[in-house]
Amino acid sequence: MAEQKSTITFYGGVGEVTGANFLFKDGLSGLAILVDCGLFQGVKAFDDKNTDPFAYDPKSIDYLFVTHAHLDHIGRIPKLVKDGFAGVIYSTAPTKEIAEIALLDGLNLFKKENADKEPFFNKADIEKAMNIWKTAEYHETINLKEGLRITLKDAGHIIGSTMFEFARGEKRLVFTGDLGNSPSPLLFDTESIKGTNYLVMESVYGDRNHEDRAERRNLLEDAIEDTMRAGGTLMIPAFSIERTQEILFEIESMVEQSRIPLAPVFLDSPMGIGVTAVYKKYARFLNEKVQKQIEEGGDSLFRFAQLHETLSTDESKAIYQANPKKIIIAGSGMSTGGRILHHEKNYLPDPASTLLLVGYQQAGSLGRMIQDGARSVKIMREEIIVRSQVRIIHGYSAHKDSDHLLQFVDETKDTLKKVFVAMGETKSAMFLSQRIRDYLGVEAEASELGEVAEIDL
Ligand SMILES: [Zn+2]
Repeated sequence: MAEQKSTITFYGGVGEVTGANFLFKDGLSGLAILVDCGLFQGVKAFDDKNTDPFAYDPKSIDYLFVTHAHLDHIGRIPKLVKDGFAGVIYSTAPTKEIAEIALLDGLNLFKKENADKEPFFNKADIEKAMNIWKTAEYHETINLKEGLRITLKDAGHIIGSTMFEFARGEKRLVFTGDLGNSPSPLLFDTESIKGTNYLVMESVYGDRNHEDRAERRNLLEDAIEDTMRAGGTLMIPAFSIERTQEILFEIESMVEQSRIPLAPVFLDSPMGIGVTAVYKKYARFLNEKVQKQIEEGGDSLFRFAQLHETLSTDESKAIYQANPKKIIIAGSGMSTGGRILHHEKNYLPDPASTLLLVGYQQAGSLGRMIQDGARSVKIMREEIIVRSQVRIIHGYSAHKDSDHLLQFVDETKDTLKKVFVAMGETKSAMFLSQRIRDYLGVEAEASELGEVAEIDL
């Protein structure tokens, strides 16, 4: 019988940012290996695409490799388990721990938003997934059948984020997951993947560059100084994973260097507090600058006198009673829910206060309306006048921009046979694949849903 070719099938995360789900079928060993099993996150977060049966039989899958703990890469894992997957899951340890927090949070959100619907997975499915979930370190190689080896490399996107290098002999295929906006205040830079032959890569910002990357720290410092001087409250809506810790770390450094006026900092997000604890626990995954700071400061990461973690609802409510000169970091990052709404209700009408947007605001979200200059918004059925300042910092994106994605590919262009551009909107993926072809002379395509690509591995 003729030898089977290895293939990659694109089951999600193509033509859009979310829902990452790629199947590698190994020709030689017959192994079926998934990379990521993410949630589709549109305007309506929990639509049919998430609840529909998988296009493959989960029982037939041997392994699932998880790049990182964002829901658009992990959100359908409990469903995969519920539908019969009984293989082994692999990721780094922080990815596994944050995934558990994020999946439980996702389940609660689903229940809140769909009171009339049965969730498409439950707590027991998350537990089952955790039981078959193994962890590995960066640069560790997992040896599978017939000489197939899988090695973890640092993607620099959020803590524990990993690229997976599939290798046999000298041949190499890399799945990037999401790629970090290196240098990051907290993480190591994205590793080089020199020697790669096939690449499945993200393209969230494939058609755009980040404007104020070099200036981001100064912009944050200015926002804090100006708001504190005016005697107002600085509200920072932030995603619980990475952005919250990054902003916290920047503020902590500014406090230690006496660069900003002293004021209490409230971390007002149960999930943000939980994830921050994982960052503290796995400080070895953070860059050498942070490690050095921990050594010198004696385990002081995310711990300073002005920082208050408000876990309970009562503690959260009490923030309003505190002197208005304060900084509040709370979710959700796009003000689509969460505790930030209460603070926005209180302080958006206050001309001395500032709303600081440090993350992408999706069209239709409250954050986006305010970003676009709305003078009045509806929060919890109440009309709220916006008199506060609104400032935006784009530079804290956790993704590489177009130029840096191209540079990442450039480093390995001599060995590349083909680049599959995924995990971005169609326009973005097409633009990046065009740039890769034109500037680097490497074959590249914007991959399509259901496409089966043959790979020489
Ligand atoms: Zn991500």
